[in-house]
Amino acid sequence: MIELTDIQKQIQQTFRDFSDRVVKPLAAKIDEEKKFPMELFKQVGALGFYGMRYPESAGGSGLDIVSYSLAVMELARGSLSLAACCTMQSLMGTYFLYRFGDKEIKEKYFAEALEGNKIGGICMTEPNAGSDLMAVKTIARVTDDGFVLNGQKTWITSAPVADFFTVLARTDNHEQLSIFFVPSNLEGVMIGKSIEKMGVRGSVTSEVAFIDVKLPKNYLLGEIGGGTKCLREILAEIRIMTAALAIGIATAAYEDALKYAKERTQFGKPIGKFQAIQMKFADMDVQLETAKLYVLHAAELSDKNLPRQKEAMIAKLYASEIANNICDQASRVLASYGYAVEYNIERYLRDARFTLIGGGTSEILKINIAKELGL
Ligand SMILES: Cc1cc2nc3c(=O)[nH]c(=O)nc-3n(C[C@H](O)[C@H](O)[C@H](O)COP(=O)(O)OP(=O)(O)OC[C@H]3O[C@@H](n4cnc5c(N)ncnc54)[C@H](O)[C@@H]3O)c2cc1C
Repeated sequence: MIELTDIQKQIQQTFRDFSDRVVKPLAAKIDEEKKFPMELFKQVGALGFYGMRYPESAGGSGLDIVSYSLAVMELARGSLSLAACCTMQSLMGTYFLYRFGDKEIKEKYFAEALEGNKIGGICMTEPNAGSDLMAVKTIARVTDDGFVLNGQKTWITSAPVADFFTVLARTDNHEQLSIFFVPSNLEGVMIGKSIEKMGVRGSVTSEVAFIDVKLPKNYLLGEIGGGTKCLREILAEIRIMTAALAIGIATAAYEDALKYAKERTQFGKPIGKFQAIQMKFADMDVQLETAKLYVLHAAELSDKNLPRQKEAMIAKLYASEIANNICDQASRVLASYGYAVEYNIERYLRDARFTLIGGGTSEILKINIAKELGL
């Protein structure tokens, strides 16, 4: 059992209050409008969320992954669309700038991103490179004064509103991948139209093309060919974070369904008094409690800098699968009202599908868990 510290409890409470008071009332509108929730995104910045994981020396608050995961769970309980935008900013969107950015990048972009004043995205996926990132075709040609970038990326979160990207590409002098910093206002950066999605619709996603984009030498983040190694540095944290998103949406569905089961009366009594409904809640409760504990366990391993690759994969796999099951079961509890747009359950069901994909699909995670077992 994980005993939360006073600071961790305080953070959880702060984000819980924010979610209940500010996010939840706007969640349906965010989904309906399919627009990046800029105002809320900035309010989350004012709460210090984007700098939580970075040390104070870098402008952050140097908090642990357990605290971060608790905050993510609460944001996702309010709106998975908002939480998806905010976690992209706080983790993948900014990490490589923090690790490798020079003075210009850190001052002009990283520091502003921690405040929520500039928005970052990460461009890894391509039309023919999803789970298999080694198939990335985007190419950075090495020139005397830097690089020229060409390629096509897709499914890029926050791209339509992004100020900068971290881009995974292959240089023409190395077979391994490299990482580049690319401001979105450079000539040749083209943002495609938003991809219409079934869920997390407020977290806008689009294609991004790079056509002869000239990059100075300092926009290479890390070493040539060092991209895959760098990505592995935060892979466990990406998975723990996605697992925390899944816990958040599962909690929202569970809580709504529990309230409904106590209020809705059929055959002369609340439906929560029927054993068939009680069994559903017992199952959901077991799944939610065990998943939450396991996600926090993986987060604690990360905080102690202990091996955590397998645990992070188990956390992400289990939390995303149970989240989808809980949203399904919650929808059955509400029956026709679970099918009505007026109630939130149908949105939770649509949103939860996202957690099965981001951070590695269940199939890929199972393959890699088996590898960890020496198979
Ligand atoms: C809402 C959303 C936001 C996203 N945001 C970003 C972003 O900001 N930046 C970014 O770069 N990408 C982003 N992505 C892309 C995401 O990372 C990819 O979708 C993901 O990596 C899976 O790739 P794919 O969809 O091409 O599936 P594929 O890799 O084509 O997989 C298709 C199916 O085949 C299975 N499969 C694949 N390989 C194997 C194998 N070896 N063995 C067994 N089964 C296999 C998969 O599990 C899956 O079931 C986003 C996706 C979504 C849905």
